Amino acid sequence: MSITIGIPRSLYYYKFYPLWNTFFEELGAKVVVSDHTSKYILDQGVKSCVDEACLPVKIFHGHVLNLKDRVDCLFIPRFTSISKNEYICPKFGGLPDVVRNTLSGLPAVIDTEVNLRKSGKNALLAAYDAGKHFCADKRHIRKAFDKAVMCYRQYKKQLMDGKLPGDIFDKKAPKSKAHGAKPLNIAVIGHEYNLYDRYVNMNLLQKLKSSVANIITVDMLSEELINEKTRQLPKRMFWNFGRRAVGAALHLLERKDIDGVIFIMSFGCGVDSFVCDLVERRIRRESMIPFLVLTIDEHSGEAGMDTRLEAFIDMIRWRCSCENNLPAYG
Ligand code: SF4
Repeated sequence: MSITIGIPRSLYYYKFYPLWNTFFEELGAKVVVSDHTSKYILDQGVKSCVDEACLPVKIFHGHVLNLKDRVDCLFIPRFTSISKNEYICPKFGGLPDVVRNTLSGLPAVIDTEVNLRKSGKNALLAAYDAGKHFCADKRHIRKAFDKAVMCYRQYKKQLMDGKLPGDIFDKKAPKSKAHGAKPLNIAVIGHEYNLYDRYVNMNLLQKLKSSVANIITVDMLSEELINEKTRQLPKRMFWNFGRRAVGAALHLLERKDIDGVIFIMSFGCGVDSFVCDLVERRIRRESMIPFLVLTIDEHSGEAGMDTRLEAFIDMIRWRCSCENNLPAYG
């Protein structure tokens, strides 16, 4: 009988699930993903996690609890870096230890370290480390890894083409937009786990789509384009998320078709607090593009979020039609 491995539908699930799923399935494992985030999962996470943690980490705990009794092992990689010469938030590095020391009755945890700071080749070493729990043959692990990387590249291409992870994973066709008002181009910047988890962001992307807005996310921009823009900064960014968010913002500033930018921020997130500030300063200083920050935590109410979103969209539409009939970008 095959080993069942649990993958929490949280944090880097939205970035790497196609890669992990293919890799483990190729090694003969059965992959089980936790349920979609719900009030119950959130409450369980909040109850079990330390108060100081950010919302995404609390939700991650809820997903682990959702999985723990139905799998043989859990996959909680220890991420240090996912790109050369860059780091990610240190909370990812300590995540397996935090989870182990907070939650009881867990199955085995596979906590492979992923550290690509020095070289992208370290991804293969991480694959050997994770794969050894399922297969002793290194050649077979290598083959599974190559196939997983192929799926990952296809996934990234689908994101660049404008698809959302939820639609790709659930194999759903994207909903068509209502006809009528002229579509607005709204860029949404934020961590994948805030952007693509519909419960966390209270279905923000779908709401934007139904307000007749085309959504532009950082995943829809090429890495080359982002890097070209971040090279203009006086100092190199060493946070992966920071580089991508600021590079995307600099690109959006130069486009003539962006009607508004929304930044989704987690309350209590150190990385977001300065990345959002940098993005906001550049946008406010160098453009007339309306900018909205939505901060989410476990107390965020949907009514408050909807009101702000509707006011933002109404303001952009009003501006387009009444303020000398100029578009938001000047
Ligand atoms: S980057 Fe921010 S939101 Fe993400 S895990 Fe770290 S503190 Fe939490």
